[in-house]
Amino acid sequence: MSDNILEEIFIKRSQQKKKTSPLNYKERIFVLTQEKIAYYDYDPDKGKRKGLKGTVDLEKIKCVETVQPEPTGPPERAYPFQIIYDEGPLYIFAKNEDVRAEWIKKLKEMVRFNKDLMQKYHPCFWVDGTWLCCQQEVKQAMGCKVLDGFTSKPSRRRGSRKPLPPTPQEEKSARPLPPQPPEQPSRFVGMTVIAEYEYTPMTPQDLELRKDEEYTILEMTDQNWWKARDKYGKEGYIPSNYVVEAGNGLERFDWYCKNMNRSQAENLLKTENKDGGFLVRDSSKAGKYTVSLFSKGGDVAGVCRHYNICTTPQGQFYLAEKHHFSSIPDLINYHQHNAAGMVSRLKYIVSNRAQPPSTAGLGYGVWEIDPRHLTFIKELGNGQFGVVKYGKWQGQHDVAIKMIKEGCMSEDDFIEEAKIMMKLRHENLVQLYGVCTKQRPIYIVTEFLSNGCLLTYLREGLKQHPTSVQLLEMCKDVSEGMAYLESKQYIHRDLAARNCLVDGHGTVKVTDFGLSRYVLDDEYTSSAGTKFPVRWSPPEVLLYCKFSSKSDIWAYGVLMWEVYTLGRLPYERLNNTEIVEQVSRGLRLYRPQLANDKVYTIMTSCWGEKADERPTFQELAFAVQDLLYELQ
Ligand code: ADP
Ligand code: MG
Repeated sequence: MSDNILEEIFIKRSQQKKKTSPLNYKERIFVLTQEKIAYYDYDPDKGKRKGLKGTVDLEKIKCVETVQPEPTGPPERAYPFQIIYDEGPLYIFAKNEDVRAEWIKKLKEMVRFNKDLMQKYHPCFWVDGTWLCCQQEVKQAMGCKVLDGFTSKPSRRRGSRKPLPPTPQEEKSARPLPPQPPEQPSRFVGMTVIAEYEYTPMTPQDLELRKDEEYTILEMTDQNWWKARDKYGKEGYIPSNYVVEAGNGLERFDWYCKNMNRSQAENLLKTENKDGGFLVRDSSKAGKYTVSLFSKGGDVAGVCRHYNICTTPQGQFYLAEKHHFSSIPDLINYHQHNAAGMVSRLKYIVSNRAQPPSTAGLGYGVWEIDPRHLTFIKELGNGQFGVVKYGKWQGQHDVAIKMIKEGCMSEDDFIEEAKIMMKLRHENLVQLYGVCTKQRPIYIVTEFLSNGCLLTYLREGLKQHPTSVQLLEMCKDVSEGMAYLESKQYIHRDLAARNCLVDGHGTVKVTDFGLSRYVLDDEYTSSAGTKFPVRWSPPEVLLYCKFSSKSDIWAYGVLMWEVYTLGRLPYERLNNTEIVEQVSRGLRLYRPQLANDKVYTIMTSCWGEKADERPTFQELAFAVQDLLYELQ
């Protein structure tokens, strides 16, 4: 017995190695030794260990982490953790946080030199064929959350790890350039949210929101529409921008403006222009709160004062030394009646919740957009289908609107396809928001990217000479968007820098996927046509029009070449006929000056003569990521 390192009674979830095996939870005695974890049947009456039920070899462990508890799980399952090993995840529930932390710490220590440690994991459970965190339906799908300590270059090579499927909602790894927006609070399936606004359902699938009530999030596949359950058990879709994560319990108070900073608070208070107008916001110090108060006090313009809510060592709150309160609402209530040292008492609640925001789309699953809700602001360019404009949807949301010139597109086929395209969602794909098909010309409404087309951005938009990290990041963005399309068996057919767009942070997104099938223009659709993307096409497309994910791979190699030449025309000196001839005979693009050997090796791997010699996008995404690790 002396070699037992830890021993504990846990609840173990059945592993369901076979699809038909039941999901159950049983108490087991877990014993950790130098080599393995063994778990035994347990006799609660005698408090004794019985037959051995299973073991996990420590050297097979790839990850040990906590798991988000089930939203409706019983209290005895409030402290789950996961051990991922070659047979999948093993879920164990500890009786309290201390025991769980002790086991995780010990196990992490013991497996830290294991081969194949994972860089990413799933923070939620695998249930009924789905990962609750990212909605992926493949048990082996790569994790959707980067493990702490894996955001920078790993200390050792990751060896011959087999590439795994990409994740639709993958978190970005550390990205030194260009700058990232401030970090989003973590959001996960199972979290409790509070409605900040009333929402009246627009479709039968929607769920009504009552202000200040709590809801449990069941699904977040669509960034704009989350599936939620209310306290009566009713389920449906809600606009995600109408709720906030329940955190400190202050969300239900109108005076609490969670995500507001000092200058926003001042603006709001000044606009309201009421003596004694106040709000409470998160202080710039994490975990602290500030009262912002507007006072006219004889001064016509009025002044804003900011008071930090302090805490005593006993955990009581105060604004003025003499008056301590056990909660912030109590403190606010008191100061609504007593200035107690402040410039004025808290007279009027100033709230940023007066007007509900507009929802993205007119209810869940609605893809027909009412053109009366669109405002056209300026022309962005002219494309194959006609004019593209920048505008607003419902006066608030930035959108790009393609106005399809009549006779350019086989519209009915496209409209059918648009329903499928709407469901494709990845941070490196330009999101289709909806279509207007009840009038002519029809409109295609998509996400707007402020830096426009990648080709122009490469040629003119980069303010300074790009760094190698920047160029590789662009390639990585495209490879991840494409790996997602590949996983959906969706073929792009016209991948090129001109069909990628760049957002305000420099992130590249792929657009126009699959659209070429609906073009009515022989010059574009026939491989002999002047507009056919000959320079991006592999031999099998040029010779037999055989499109596949592997022809997209070829195009990706050419796109990488465009990136590393800052937007030159591939095979500059050759015309289309010459390209068909030479490429079929083995001619390939030269190594751009900015591309080192490793980068060029990735490019050329895309130009294998035969389609099956070329890598997959998943493999490319990993290869590019590995190079990025080396650079950082
Ligand atoms: P098409 O694919 O129909 O030929 P494009 O998509 O190339 O047309 O659009 C023409 C131009 O409009 C692009 O080069 C780009 O500058 C601009 N544009 C198109 N879509 C967007 C968008 N979503 N965001 C920002 N600019 C866009
Ligand atoms: Mg295009």
